[in-house]
Amino acid sequence: MAKTVIVGAGPTGLAAAIAIKQKDSSADVLILEKRHKLNEVEGAGIAMPANSVVALRELGLTEELKEHAYQVKHCIYTEADGRPICRASFTATGTNVPFMAINRGELQNLLLKKARTLGVKVQTGCELINFKQNNNATIEVNWQQQVPISADNKKSELLHDTFDLLISADGIHSKTRALVFPDVKVQDFGLTNWRCIADKPTEFKELEFEPTFMWGNQGQLVMLYPFSKDQCYMYFHTFDEEKNDAQYRSFSADDFKSFGLFVPEILNQIKTQNISLTTSRFQITAKPCYFNPKFSSVLLIGDAAHPVTPILQQGATQGFWDAYFLGKLYNEATVETLPMSFSRSRQDIMQNIMNRSNDPVKNIVSSIRKGDFAERITALRKAGTPLNIAGWKNLFASYPDQINVRITAP
Ligand SMILES: Cc1cc2nc3c(=O)[nH]c(=O)nc-3n(C[C@H](O)[C@H](O)[C@H](O)COP(=O)(O)OP(=O)(O)OC[C@H]3O[C@@H](n4cnc5c(N)ncnc54)[C@H](O)[C@@H]3O)c2cc1C
Repeated sequence: MAKTVIVGAGPTGLAAAIAIKQKDSSADVLILEKRHKLNEVEGAGIAMPANSVVALRELGLTEELKEHAYQVKHCIYTEADGRPICRASFTATGTNVPFMAINRGELQNLLLKKARTLGVKVQTGCELINFKQNNNATIEVNWQQQVPISADNKKSELLHDTFDLLISADGIHSKTRALVFPDVKVQDFGLTNWRCIADKPTEFKELEFEPTFMWGNQGQLVMLYPFSKDQCYMYFHTFDEEKNDAQYRSFSADDFKSFGLFVPEILNQIKTQNISLTTSRFQITAKPCYFNPKFSSVLLIGDAAHPVTPILQQGATQGFWDAYFLGKLYNEATVETLPMSFSRSRQDIMQNIMNRSNDPVKNIVSSIRKGDFAERITALRKAGTPLNIAGWKNLFASYPDQINVRITAP
């Protein structure tokens, strides 16, 4: 039986632990997570396209999704003043599997609860420092553990242990990736985004909601995704590749003052209720970094292996699919061959999904640079289908297994 350590208790790390324990209830799985509180996650909400929902059902979370996630039915693109550009039902993506949205904290909680119920050990306040692979292919892992000594003080201890398998799910700025793929660079698109949770705007409260994407003429985007009866996930982005790291972090409501519909009300909520916003940039790697034969007992998954732009919402989604494949291989492959077999089955699919997620954003950025973003809006109006709906339709047609996989009983 392999002794497995997973680094990172984000959506991918937790899903991977669940997938392993479902295949082998006696598996010895430890998660090391540097944060102290697991439900305090940044990023507000998460949209789950149909293939995300299928993967989570496969991980035995059907009931949890019914209870905590919210089904969205249509998607509309408008100009900044609210004039419609195009709209479509999610069934236009060619599947009847629901599209859902959820509060990130709730997603994190339900994954954590499931992992713990299955007997996964989760240690918080533990930051991976480094590791080395021994001649017998075992992995020696060193981490720093923060131990509280009083209400205000913590001391840190250096700890280490030896494992058969190291699975790294430590996110976009993965320390493991830096060690295993030192030449891989993270590319930045110059797009800054801010995300928060807000009350649903009053004028829409009684209506059946739809996610709304509002495009400004310089390529700004405001997105509203409902994730409960009363709350929604708000997302703003602007293009500002000239700005430096410190400048891009501050949110300026002025960038969005020309936006209509519900935007003024949301901006007012942000100001008067002092709502905090999570800031991040669109960052990617050029190819998936799952496995390097020099570290045969190490597998990277989720954002650590393949950060993508969020246009098709495949980030967490493909983290769940990584978990699903890991579970499948856990029984089929030996521990010595698992990382390599995993990489062989996932590398090409993931490269394709990365390209489909990144190319539209590259086009958007090039239009903004050339100053012809308005033409892109005209082309969208002509095409008549929101970019993401068209993208999902093609994705699901190319990878029907991610939609039609046989749903196993939880
Ligand atoms: C603007 C934006 C919107 C997005 N919207 C969506 C969406 O709607 N749907 C979707 O599917 N995806 C979306 N994504 C992508 C999604 O957020 C990520 O793909 C997802 O969070 C990746 O999960 P993960 O577990 O791999 O990494 P993370 O969520 O980053 O988790 C990594 C974990 O590892 C821990 N960690 C890091 N370093 C260490 C260390 N050294 N030691 C121990 N622990 C460590 C971190 O604390 C963290 O808990 C979006 C991304 C962005 C930027």
